Amino acid sequence: KPALLEIDKLSVFIHTHRGSVRAVENTTFTIERGETFALIGESGSGKSILGLAVMRLLSPAAEVSGAIRLNGVDLTDLPEKEMQEIRGKMVGVIAQNPYLSMNPVMKVGDQIAEPMVTHLMMNREEAKERTRSVLKFFDITPPGVRYREYPYQYSGGMLQRAMVAMGTAAEPELIIADEPTKGVDVIRKRNIAATFRKVTGNGCAFLLITHDIEFARAMSTRIGVNYCGQILEIARTGDFFEEPLHPYSKALLESLPENGMKPIPGDPPSMIDVPEGCRFHPRCPHATERCKTPPPFVKIGAGEGHGERSVRCWLYA
Ligand code: SF4
Ligand code: MG
Repeated sequence: KPALLEIDKLSVFIHTHRGSVRAVENTTFTIERGETFALIGESGSGKSILGLAVMRLLSPAAEVSGAIRLNGVDLTDLPEKEMQEIRGKMVGVIAQNPYLSMNPVMKVGDQIAEPMVTHLMMNREEAKERTRSVLKFFDITPPGVRYREYPYQYSGGMLQRAMVAMGTAAEPELIIADEPTKGVDVIRKRNIAATFRKVTGNGCAFLLITHDIEFARAMSTRIGVNYCGQILEIARTGDFFEEPLHPYSKALLESLPENGMKPIPGDPPSMIDVPEGCRFHPRCPHATERCKTPPPFVKIGAGEGHGERSVRCWLYA
């Protein structure tokens, strides 16, 4: 059986009048059923573009190559009509901002019921019934009353949960959440974490795209470190935090408040004029002459004491 999601040598170049943005380059990874894969990295490193590519929501200016297989089916060459069915039914999206993604003049219950009618072919009554139990599942109670309310009548936390309910109502196999904790306070963040755990407890897989390393640590089973359009390291979450291998991963963790908030030297590179060779070499304390040629993405076995992982760095090649 193929993995739930296989990203295979995916590249996304976005052509602009200033040049081609190399948002995703030759990226390969898989997401297994039920796992939470967190893609971390600084803002503007191409993480969101990758999520949009999976949903096929990129602008026509984007040139996509490689494959994105969901249950073995390549989404990159599906007709748009079939892709529409996959969005919502197989792949759900949890948006960042409830105030932007919910319809202010539509009852919350109807907004959650909608994907059940469109994607699960339920009739209105069945969808309503199911929505009430979904509301209850997410502690939005009393469900009968909450069903009929509008977004402005909900508290912020409740709205956040309703949004997760909306993204998961059709019971997709994969949920993509892009920066779910951006601009969110600590209490709200705990609320989101608890809500996500409920969903993963149901066997649903997550692609969590975030610059929030602590949140990724708390939520994920595996981590992918994204830098300037490339994944530099993939590891199990526990192994990663115990011993990050890639110099950028190390720098990223050292920039956390608990580790002294050491800033990463230099600036993130331009996504148009990318550094040659290793993309991190202008900022890397270990850079040598050979780093001017691109390092391979090598698999390091569990037997070598680092846990099973892949690293794109000459130090490990
Ligand atoms: Fe640093 Fe070289 Fe490794 Fe790049 S390949 S991270 S420059 S040591
Ligand atoms: Mg982003």
